[in-house]
This record gives sequence, C-alpha cells and structure tokens, in this order.
Amino acid sequence: MQQLKNAYLARVYEAVEQRNAGESEFLQAVQEVLHSIEPVIDQHPEFIQNAIIERLVEPERLIQFQIPWTDDQGNMQVNRGFRVQHNSALGPYKGGLRFHPSVNPSVVKFLGFEQTFKNALTGLPMGGGKGGADFDPKGKSEGEVKRFCQSYMTELTRHIGQFTDVPAGDIGVGRREVGYMFGQYKRMQNEFTGVFTGKHPDNSGSLGRKEATGYGLVYIVAELFRSLKNEDLKGKTVTVSGSGNVAIYAIDKATQLGAKVVTASDSAGYVYDENGIDLAVLQQIKEVERGRLTEYAKRVPTAQYHEGSGGVWSIPCDIALPCATQNEIDGDSARALVQNGVIAVAEGSNMSTTPEGVEAFLEGNILYIPGKAANAGGVAVSGLEMSQNSLRLGWSFEEVDEKLQTIMVNIFHTVYDASKACGVPGNFVVGANVAGLLKVSQAMLWQG
Ligand code: NDP
Repeated sequence: MQQLKNAYLARVYEAVEQRNAGESEFLQAVQEVLHSIEPVIDQHPEFIQNAIIERLVEPERLIQFQIPWTDDQGNMQVNRGFRVQHNSALGPYKGGLRFHPSVNPSVVKFLGFEQTFKNALTGLPMGGGKGGADFDPKGKSEGEVKRFCQSYMTELTRHIGQFTDVPAGDIGVGRREVGYMFGQYKRMQNEFTGVFTGKHPDNSGSLGRKEATGYGLVYIVAELFRSLKNEDLKGKTVTVSGSGNVAIYAIDKATQLGAKVVTASDSAGYVYDENGIDLAVLQQIKEVERGRLTEYAKRVPTAQYHEGSGGVWSIPCDIALPCATQNEIDGDSARALVQNGVIAVAEGSNMSTTPEGVEAFLEGNILYIPGKAANAGGVAVSGLEMSQNSLRLGWSFEEVDEKLQTIMVNIFHTVYDASKACGVPGNFVVGANVAGLLKVSQAMLWQG
C-alpha cells in the first residue's frame, strides 16, 4: 500500500505500527481506513483536536483469558480466549465470536475495528466489538464443544450484558455454540436477557438471522446492479467461496434471484458445478452432517472437486462473492478475476481482499464493495434481534427480511453518496470508510 500523504495521518499510523508491532491484520485494516479518509481529514480540524482518529485506532478494552476444558478422554485442555471492546460511541459493543486456530490479538482487533465502521453503516445503535478463541471445533465431539463454550462463558460473562456488550457468531460459532454460551450466561447471571444474538428462534432468537449475512450480501449487489446498470441478477454467473453460514445463504438468495452460482469452497478445496450448486445437497453436508466439501462432489455427478481453495477465483464469473475468511483474494486472484471479466465483487467475509487485490479491482474499474458495507446484513439483523428481545416480541421472517432489504439498500446509497461527495464516485472503499467514520466520530464528539 502507498505511503500516507497526509502528515497527521502518517504520524497516527506510525504510532499504531509501533504500538501494535507484528499485528499484520490489524495494521492492514487501520492502514486501509487511514488511506480512505485522506480526502476528508483536512475538512475536520475538530477530529485532530479531539484525537478522534487516535481513539478510533485504539480499542477501548482488550480482554484476554484462559479457557480450561475437559476433553472426552478426561484430559484438561487449555485455550486462549479474547474479547475486544473496540468502540462504544454508538451503542453497546456488538460483534461476533470466532473459534478458529488462527485467532489472536491481531485478528480480533482487526475484526473489532472493522465492526465499528460496519455497525455505524447499519444506522442501528451498536458499537463495535469482536472476540473468540484459538479453539478448533473441527473433529470435536458435541460434548467437547459444549464444555468448551461453557468454560469460555464462565470467564466472558463478567464482561458482557445486554446494555454493555452483546456477542454473536462468526467462523466456527453458529446457533449451536451461541445456544450453549447463552445458556451458561443465563445460569451464571440468573437472568434471561438479549445478551447474545444469533440464537435459535425457539430460544428467543430472530427469524431471518441465520440467513441475514448471505441474503444481505446479495441484496446490496442487486441494488448495485439496479442503480448503476439498470439490470437485475437474472442469468448472471456467480462464484462463491466458503461453504459456511454466509456462503450457504448467499448461494440461496443469488439462486432465488435468478443467478447461477457455480462454486463453493472450504479450506481444503473447491467444487465447480456448471449446472449451479445444489443447495439442498450442500446444506445436508454442511449444516446437518457437518461434513467436508469432498462429499458434495461424490453426491453430485456434474460437480468437479479441486484441491486448494484459492483456485475458486480462476473460474470466470460476472459476480464474485468471497465468503470464507480474510485475505482470501490476493493480487494474483484479483487480477485473474479482472482478466476473466468480473463485473462486481462484494465481500461476505471480512477484509476478504489483500491491499494488492483491492488495487487490482480499483484499477480494473470493478464494482467492488468491501465487507464493512457488503456483509453488514448479519449484524443489522442482530440489531433487530436485540430490539425484539427488549420488546419481548418476535417478528415474522417476512418482517425481518423486509427490514434487512431496506437496510442494505440504504447502506448502498449511503456509501455511494459518500464516494461521490469525496470526488471518487463508485469507490465504495472510500465511501464506506468515510461514511462510517463521520457517524462514529460525531457521536464521540458529542460524548466528549
Ligand atoms: P463458518 O464457520 O460458517 O464458515 C466459514 C467458511 O470459510 C468454511 O467454509 C471454512 O472452511 C472457510 N474458511 C475458514 N477459514 C478459512 C481459511 N483460513 N481458508 C479458507 N477457507 C476458510 O463462518 P461464517 O460463514 O459465519 O463466516 C465467514 C466469513 O464471513 C468470516 O470472514 C466472517 O467474519 C464473515 N462474517 C460472518 C457473519 C455472520 O453472520 N456469520 C457476519 C459478517 C461477516 P473450513 O470448514 O474448511 O474451515
């Protein structure tokens, strides 16, 4: 990434680099935002006077703790847990928990930082937070997952609450894990409150939350095509990476809107199915059996399985939807997509694209929507789940879905308008970062 031209932002970044040495994901996320806000920073001397940017790049609180748990052989295991409470200007800290061996302070800090901007874009009263553990749920029994979740919550309970910090799911944390953690919180606090979102609808969760991130991703892409190209998604070829929660419901909605989704992947490889991914088979393998994608190719004769998840970006498509993990599209993958004629890329995963990849998309005039805007549907419906829990009411799937569509359409226009106001129409990276910054910083100024 190029050097920052603005002397103040360059100084801020240098201090961030010194203070967070070696935390590559966090530094990457901060650098991207600082670059994006260069066009507006000089118009806001009050940000400098009130150290708004310095405060935005420093989490309000970072909690790290030990998670001891007993495996099925009766042996004690120890993992490391985290919660970053990044910014509370707009509401209680809000953001998911990730269980994956790669989780470390850099990863949770980058996610918490991004979440703050994303939550601002939803227009709902939520601050930004994120957390997780370096626990690998793969291959663990039901009992092991339950005991791990309970031990995790035994510590986290003291730091969260419906008005303080409301976690949810992320990689490796779905309804099952959220249910166990919510149950442990309830036992320890003796209260039934909306302290978690992403709960099962029979357990005070919101209808439509499971689908929200993937559906929201496709809704914003549909609005992009409608507004800027006067087209719908019928007949478009779509590539999707991942085969978890976000990927499955992105495939579902894109297919419902008439597009053909030809890929899905996991960390080992990808499947290409020229007839379009068979969602029912994928859901059976991933949601019911918790199996691997190799199974898909065994069950669907038209599908080809390829080793190596990155290969998914070599498949020609009109729309690419990365829905697996951070930095999954590097410079080479982005250039391959551009050469193969991709029109739009929208990120279901957080920070899906490396800085080199982002540059390739911008240079290639690709309509590229970063995760902060594109995957905000999940947290938006989490915000709606918090409202329903407070009201002690449940809305129908249709009501939630309609609100989600409205929120995603609004996010698209907020971000597009901000890109125009900054003199770079269609640069949704600048648009998302500037619109998010202005919202959060205004609240910080009001709060002193
Ligand atoms: P899941 O755990 O349900 O699925 C994750 C998927 O990504 C799996 O297919 C997994 O494959 C793959 N994956 C994970 N890590 C890697 C890796 N290092 N390399 C390649 N593939 C990988 O998670 P979600 O679908 O919930 O989350 C996916 C992304 O979406 C994340 O970036 C998350 O932060 C983001 N997101 C999620 C939201 C939500 O509501 N769930 C909201 C907003 C963003 P495997 O099974 O082999 O590990």
